[in-house]
Amino acid sequence: MRQGLYGSDPRVRAIRVGALTIGGGAPVVVQSMCSTDTRDVRATLDQIHRLVGAGCELVRVAVPDAKASAALPAIVREAGVPVVADIHFHYRRALEAIRAGVAKVRINPGNIGSQERVKAVVDAAGTAGIPIRIGVNSGSMPQDILERDQFIVTPEGMVEAAQREVELLEREGFQDIVVSMKATDTKTMVAANRLFRNQSDIPLHLGITEAGLVGYGSIKSAIGIGSLLLQGIGETIRVSLTAEPEEEIGVAWWILEATGVRRRGPELVACPTCGRIEIDMMNLAAEVEKLLKGVDIPLKVAVMGCVVNGPGEVRDADIGVVGGKGKGLIIRRGEIVHTVPEADLLLTFKKELDKVCAEYRRGSDNGLNRGERRRVSPVNRSSLKKPATPNPTALDQDEAE
Ligand code: SF4
Repeated sequence: MRQGLYGSDPRVRAIRVGALTIGGGAPVVVQSMCSTDTRDVRATLDQIHRLVGAGCELVRVAVPDAKASAALPAIVREAGVPVVADIHFHYRRALEAIRAGVAKVRINPGNIGSQERVKAVVDAAGTAGIPIRIGVNSGSMPQDILERDQFIVTPEGMVEAAQREVELLEREGFQDIVVSMKATDTKTMVAANRLFRNQSDIPLHLGITEAGLVGYGSIKSAIGIGSLLLQGIGETIRVSLTAEPEEEIGVAWWILEATGVRRRGPELVACPTCGRIEIDMMNLAAEVEKLLKGVDIPLKVAVMGCVVNGPGEVRDADIGVVGGKGKGLIIRRGEIVHTVPEADLLLTFKKELDKVCAEYRRGSDNGLNRGERRRVSPVNRSSLKKPATPNPTALDQDEAE
């Protein structure tokens, strides 16, 4: 099982990819693939820079021909993140990409012909100190495995296909390997990766292939990738959407954050509203979300619509807002710090948020926001109705429940 909030399974083999580490307990890496023509250096670099701006840490480019590999040195030089060369069939492209300085090659040795060619690629990668990613895709399974399995892509078949490729590299003494097994069927993808992890310490690159358009594709990816991450499986992820690649990065980060595997900014928890709502919750949550834009601290922020369940729900949040009838509360780590009229709620929240951020930066936050959630005392809900000291702004709540 995963050993720490921000680390992958430390028992998995550690692989260096440029300045990044995949596996060995390192944080799960977010990656994507350019949709540009690699021969167009400017367009490719522009897209890479947009991806990096969105949070991409490793970027893959297609290298279908010699012109594409000729473009690689400039791309590698200016990318700002490690670049992976995706080679289809020709081992010469792999050799050219390695000479161009890529940080990783994605190639299936079974596709490039003789063992001599495999050896040439392995030797070049070994000399350059870069890893090779093997990829098994449900759409391009080996024919003999498909026929044996009556043309059904099975988890066992995918793992067998991956192990065959691994053996071709290991036969040459090469160990710096990452494996991906991607399927369009979520259950098959999840089962294949679980099966592989039971057999091998090779790092796994997770993804649902051809997941679809942004809405459904994001959910499908979240279920497939997320369920594996929750089991401590997966060292790097790519969300594959029919969309601009930048959108994949946002979804990938949401998956990491929702699974608690990694966090890069605040997590906003907001109530779904119900008949007890006493405040314009949609607007309040949207405004709080705006205030959180640009905050790069992993806070837990909660926005709740009433005093019935709200105070309890915000108890373990670093900062929370609870709406009431014309008034609201600001709660910090279980303690009510302000009771204010609704009109002042956002401004008061902003001031308190700034204080929380300043404390975090000074390192005086008791480690709460670094994944070490501490117990906090329960909010005294009665204080919502009867403040200990007379308070002209106290909430005037009806009994609810
Ligand atoms: Fe309903 Fe209050 Fe819960 Fe929001 S916090 S869903 S308003 S009970």
